[in-house]
Amino acid sequence: MKPIPYGRQNITDKDIQAVIETLQSDFLTQGPKIEEFEKAFARYIGCKYAVAISNGTAALHLCAMALNVDANTNVITTPITFAASANCVRYCGGNVYFADINPDTFTLDLAKVESLINSKAKGFFKGIIPVDFAGYAVNLEELKKLAIKYDLWIIEDACHAPGGFFLDSKGNKQLCGNSNFADMAIFSFHPVKHIACGEGGMITTNNEELYKKLLLFRTHGITKNPDLLVENHGGWYYEMQELGYNYRLTDFQAALGITQLEKADEGLTRRREIAKKYYEAFKNEKAILRQSGIVEGHAYHLYIIEIEKRKELYDYLRTKNIFCQVHYIPVHTMPYYKKLGNKQGDFPISEDYYSKCLSLPMYPTLTQEEQNYVIDNIINFINK
Ligand SMILES: *Cc1c(COP(=O)(O)O)cnc(C)c1O
Repeated sequence: MKPIPYGRQNITDKDIQAVIETLQSDFLTQGPKIEEFEKAFARYIGCKYAVAISNGTAALHLCAMALNVDANTNVITTPITFAASANCVRYCGGNVYFADINPDTFTLDLAKVESLINSKAKGFFKGIIPVDFAGYAVNLEELKKLAIKYDLWIIEDACHAPGGFFLDSKGNKQLCGNSNFADMAIFSFHPVKHIACGEGGMITTNNEELYKKLLLFRTHGITKNPDLLVENHGGWYYEMQELGYNYRLTDFQAALGITQLEKADEGLTRRREIAKKYYEAFKNEKAILRQSGIVEGHAYHLYIIEIEKRKELYDYLRTKNIFCQVHYIPVHTMPYYKKLGNKQGDFPISEDYYSKCLSLPMYPTLTQEEQNYVIDNIINFINK
């Protein structure tokens, strides 16, 4: 069996052709493919505005900037995420506070969030960054109630969840990143995510004021828009009005994003089939303590199992050419976050989860034969 990774991109001839055509066009960057990708993505997610960004981390940084995060800003996020969800607050000098996860959903436990908020003075926290971890759609309608009660903004980290959704109290589908409840949401187009651009990211929002800021911050804080200029010396004239960055996506990456997006739903359907098969295979295995399971609206960026002998299973599967991964080492236990005052033992549910979790191969091109091989080897390991 050839090596089976935990995730991988699906690049077709159509994708390749789209990139070649853009390379042969007049614009490698700042051309028409960017807006085309943004419009298509906004339509897919069901939001008003989308801003293409060089990667998901830069997207998070710009969101934090747009919400004026500074040294006096305290923000809550989950320890079970990629470090970037927390780092974006630090880029702006703000302070990150973690709250523990719900052991069944692996996402922020709202009761823990609320007690953290209540442990500080009124107005201490300014924002929260929920993560649709593994593709599980956080119920943002519930979170929004908390956000209103305590006057918090919300940046949804939806990197794992394009196409994921939860059902709101009226039974309507609320797609991850549609920003009906969050101020902004972000996505990543790293090759292990659902949509691959090589590197790439997107911010989605329904807020026009934030949208305009994001456009400005993406390109050095520079504008050429005559309506926004303070002075105007002529056709060449531009103004740098804010301290921004170069966080642009290129046109050939956007071209790839467009063709990738066209097959996003197909990929999602396949991911859900793979999840169902894992679930059925493991539901009666006592050694599998928890698994991602069957959840309506789950986008299955990852399929996770929890097992006592995680390291042994991980090593065993490697000898069989199956390369699983662990998501994630709790962010508060990273040396950098420990230096900031966090310590081992602070979030026992996250730490317990980390000691047992394993992400199994999950990507649309995983074949039936390959998945059977993965399942058989896990069952063999359990019965060893
Ligand atoms: C991938 C990822 C990011 C960062 O995205 P990049 O495009 O790699 O910078 C942020 N948050 C989560 C949850 C991610 O999975």
